[in-house]
Amino acid sequence: MRTDLGKLTDDWKGITSIVPYGAGIVGNICKTLFEQVDLTIPFVIDNDKTKQGKKWRGRPIISFEEAKPQLGTQKIVVMAGHDAYGKITRYLNAYGFVEFEDFCNVGHFMSEWLWDAKRMNCVFHVDMTITTKCTLNCRHCNLFIPYHKTHVNFSFEELKHSIDLFFERIDFVTYFGLIGGETFLHPELEQCIEYLGENYKNKIGRITIVTNGTVRPSDSLLNIIKKYEMYLSISDYTNVVPYGSKMNELVRRAEEYGIDFSRNASIVWTDFGFPNHPLKRTPEELENHLKSCRPNWNALHGGRFYYCNVSWCAEQSGRFRLLPDDSIALADIDSKDKVACRKIVELSRGTSSFCRICGGCGKDNTKFVETGRQLP
Ligand code: SF4
Ligand code: SF4
Repeated sequence: MRTDLGKLTDDWKGITSIVPYGAGIVGNICKTLFEQVDLTIPFVIDNDKTKQGKKWRGRPIISFEEAKPQLGTQKIVVMAGHDAYGKITRYLNAYGFVEFEDFCNVGHFMSEWLWDAKRMNCVFHVDMTITTKCTLNCRHCNLFIPYHKTHVNFSFEELKHSIDLFFERIDFVTYFGLIGGETFLHPELEQCIEYLGENYKNKIGRITIVTNGTVRPSDSLLNIIKKYEMYLSISDYTNVVPYGSKMNELVRRAEEYGIDFSRNASIVWTDFGFPNHPLKRTPEELENHLKSCRPNWNALHGGRFYYCNVSWCAEQSGRFRLLPDDSIALADIDSKDKVACRKIVELSRGTSSFCRICGGCGKDNTKFVETGRQLP
């Protein structure tokens, strides 16, 4: 199986302390993980002046300039999303720091180092599509929802089965997303949240529910989101679709309930090409593309684990067939055999046969499109 693991240099073995770089959203999501791992953190680097002087898990946040003379041979773990990691990599490279030798991102660190040092099987980001029904009809939906031949709510029992199979084999997931379609259309969303919150909260950095804000959630749903400290990620398409009053009401109620949320209005969208004009990459083009698109948003569905949720959605649309190596049947892996469970982590850092025809979300996809534009 193709994977990007095994890149850390030998001197990462046996380290007892690290320096995190980034005290933002990803850093906060990772706090639960670092609470479970015995590692010394002398300080945290963040070049955002508003964070400097504050604390991250009790450790001081300082600038890179201030940190540099104190770093010595300590390894840096960058806690940032895909785009920000690219920028920080270029910044560190300019100071002579080398990726996988002096620093790596937190997804790589947890997938590789935590296995070598602590025998923990960790995955960075998993999405589970609970429904393919949606209230909107976005032409460039990167889950291809308008092009699915059928639209379904996956039952709570089915989702629960996949969740159990997964967490019996995996020690920690930094980010677990419940996504759609439109999640608030799912009649059993409350049960899903309660089940995850009651059973697996200590194995997850942050559970996020993604909504487009068009559906009014019940008071009981908001209560349960608050109770289990789930995060609400609200995609805002009101620039294109006229539902501003519903959006404002959702934001007001999320604030009223004390729910942690973000309202995301400026998401940059690109055309993934599928299904109307899929790409036809040569093997060389594919090789270059894979260096650019490494979103690591894995997927969990129907008792199987997939490298990329976009690829699962392509298959679910009924317009593409994935290959056997694109996913793993979790029940086929002995949950007591940690080495066997490693296959899941390897696939989480792997690839998919769908990448050959998918525009993807890397820097090489410059076909920018209007976010949220609706099909007629
Ligand atoms: S709201 Fe989201 S899931 Fe629904 S069609 Fe638009 S992008 Fe796709
Ligand atoms: S190119 Fe591959 S990794 Fe990137 S979004 Fe598409 S299927 Fe996922």
